[in-house]
Amino acid sequence: MEMIKFLDIQKITQQYAPEIHDAVSRVIDAGWYLLGEEVKQFEKSYAAYTGTDYCVGVANGLDALRIILRAYMEIGVMQPGDEIIVPANTYIASILAVSDSGLVPVLVEPDITTYQIDDQKIEAAITSKTKGVMIVHLYGQCAYTDKIGNLCKQYGLKLIEDNAQAHGCKFNGKKTGALGDAAGHSFYPGKNLGALGDAGAVTTNDKGLGEVVRTLANYGSSVKYRFDYQGYNSRLDELQAAVLDVKLAHLDSETTRRREVAGYYLKHIIHPDITLPVVNDWNAHVFHLFIIRSAKRDELQHYLREKGIQTLIHYPIPPHKQKAYSAWNDFSFPITEKIHAEVLSLPISAVITDEEVKTIVDAVNAFC
Ligand SMILES: *Cc1c(COP(=O)(O)O)cnc(C)c1O
Repeated sequence: MEMIKFLDIQKITQQYAPEIHDAVSRVIDAGWYLLGEEVKQFEKSYAAYTGTDYCVGVANGLDALRIILRAYMEIGVMQPGDEIIVPANTYIASILAVSDSGLVPVLVEPDITTYQIDDQKIEAAITSKTKGVMIVHLYGQCAYTDKIGNLCKQYGLKLIEDNAQAHGCKFNGKKTGALGDAAGHSFYPGKNLGALGDAGAVTTNDKGLGEVVRTLANYGSSVKYRFDYQGYNSRLDELQAAVLDVKLAHLDSETTRRREVAGYYLKHIIHPDITLPVVNDWNAHVFHLFIIRSAKRDELQHYLREKGIQTLIHYPIPPHKQKAYSAWNDFSFPITEKIHAEVLSLPISAVITDEEVKTIVDAVNAFC
């Protein structure tokens, strides 16, 4: 039996093989592998794509987020011990980025229908130490709301976007990555815009912040051998930038295909034990993941595996139940815990075929 893979990354790359080979050869032949023209070009393309003034390539998505927060500390906007509000149901990287520099993550429950941070619960979590809100456009769906934007203005908080999962997503015509004060993007191979290895970027309209981020990512140096900060080595390399520039040009057509697949799932999956995702605005969802929810999740996953369909769980253990954050293990976030117990991710990508999608729908509908 031929397995339907959760995500066929080889096939995704193959779609653009000639262009990618050309790009990689160009870098090899240029003989310049860091901080060169390819990175400059991709930063320009991605700033234009997101509609932001500055884009700084960095080594990965976690670094993008932690360097944004470090930059705010270096310019005196944040101090160690200050609090940053984050969703309780996110990939651990969002939270690691906060605790990394001695800032304190304050977890807020999501909305059970959208899985995004519940904007009704943010205000109660704000204290005199709160300096920012990090929203995470989880599963590819926009987490921004006007209420969140207004709260940040009212309380003078920085709004940081974790846009690792939502490249190309839009809220009222504006792209994610351009909705807050700064955004971190991941180009991990499995993301909607994926490199052939680790890669990331920061976007912002704040020139001062963008310059500090760029300096921090290069050892804290903007002039060779002069170090203004105790920085990081976190640079996007020329090879990845060249590949990303090729793939960025195809991102919107890939998103269109993801939405087609999601639309098919939404229309045809009909099962009393399965909850489908809620889509209020198709522009505001790029379907990084297609999440269904069921009280019988583990049986469903096992059943689909037997039928030759690979699914994944994003994510099986909530951050507050992780050993890495043992001080939080007794905290109770019932909505977050319910989501982690019930979610299952069906295969979705730009390269999945109609036939595969139909096979998955038929199998899901026949589950009992
Ligand atoms: C992937 C991801 C990250 C981290 O990105 P890396 O490039 O793997 O460091 C951060 N936040 C979220 C929500 C992610 O999905």
